[in-house]
Amino acid sequence: MSSSSSYRLLVISTAVAPLGSGLGGGVELFVKNAVQSLQQRGHQVTVLAPAGSVLAVGDLIQLPGQWQPTAHTSERSSPIVMPEPSVLAAMMGYAREVQQKFDIILHFCYDWLPFYLTPFFQTPIAHYVSMGSLTDAMDTVISQVAQAHPGTVGVCTQVQAETLPAADRYRPIGSAVDLSLYDYCDRPGTHLAWMGRISPEKGLEDAIAAVAIAQVPLKILGKLENQDYWQHLQATYPDAPIEYLGFLDTAGLQAAIRSCRALLMTPKWVEAFGNVAIEALACGVPVIAYRRGGPTEIVRPGQTGWLVEPDSVEGLVDAIARIDQLDRQACRQQAVTEYSLEALAQRYEQWFHDILSPQP
Ligand code: UDP
Repeated sequence: MSSSSSYRLLVISTAVAPLGSGLGGGVELFVKNAVQSLQQRGHQVTVLAPAGSVLAVGDLIQLPGQWQPTAHTSERSSPIVMPEPSVLAAMMGYAREVQQKFDIILHFCYDWLPFYLTPFFQTPIAHYVSMGSLTDAMDTVISQVAQAHPGTVGVCTQVQAETLPAADRYRPIGSAVDLSLYDYCDRPGTHLAWMGRISPEKGLEDAIAAVAIAQVPLKILGKLENQDYWQHLQATYPDAPIEYLGFLDTAGLQAAIRSCRALLMTPKWVEAFGNVAIEALACGVPVIAYRRGGPTEIVRPGQTGWLVEPDSVEGLVDAIARIDQLDRQACRQQAVTEYSLEALAQRYEQWFHDILSPQP
């Protein structure tokens, strides 16, 4: 092992799509921020990712193969799927070959294989689980690893952990934003914002329904993951005051949202974290979110946003009417205090230290 102050770290990215494609959703930001923050602290970081990935930081090794199906489109009883040839199998095979060169492996795949393979590796594996409970097979393998290798399974939030079996066995690691990339805006225009993957579990329909009632314009940003769903929304709300800006990179995203009055978050699932919330806060944009999942641990009601009864469009409309009571400076300040890359890196370092030097 290298000196305790500097780890040699192998990061295994999500296998559902190349980094930078947007198809991975928030997990792409989790990977990027982990790599960047740990590298800034002097750790040596190598990243394995599907071919076609774009990552400006870290030593990137790209491997070919078919992507994994996304877990959020699976049924609870869905079997494990390994497309052939599998990029996940390629990444795990590569990791096994080179593991002796690393102190610890950190992986971000919401997939069965890395969990199953854990006892067959000599180098310890830290598992970052970026979604809540979705399938029986994943619940089983995640909780088995959490029990057999205590302290090695990290999650975004406690509320996410509570969706999984053995909820007290997970370590909340949270998320971060690179604050230098998000500009604070004190003088918003009239728009609201909604951003994320356009897919049913994100509940865009409720945000559109709310702005149709409130007659407030809404900017929509994000990957069009489910075309049928998007067409259905447009057909259902032909006159809603919405504008779709496409999938933007971080620079474009922050430029588009920072002048918005608030971000709407209307998830239908238990959002494990909700990176878009802290990206908005970093720009001084308050967050109006359903009281469900990660946003409940992020939003400070009455100060940096409002938490609304889940699935209540009326509740959203009511919260939109009360945006002026929120404090944009407090939003930026919360991002600075709680979600800096530096703070994230320290949580990772402590996690790795605890895995590598377990208390008896
Ligand atoms: N995002 C982006 N461009 C866009 C809209 C969204 O890069 O135009 C990113 C955003 O930065 C965030 C991710 O999409 O990192 C969504 O992550 P979140 O954790 O909110 O949800 P998930 O997709 O993981 O369910």
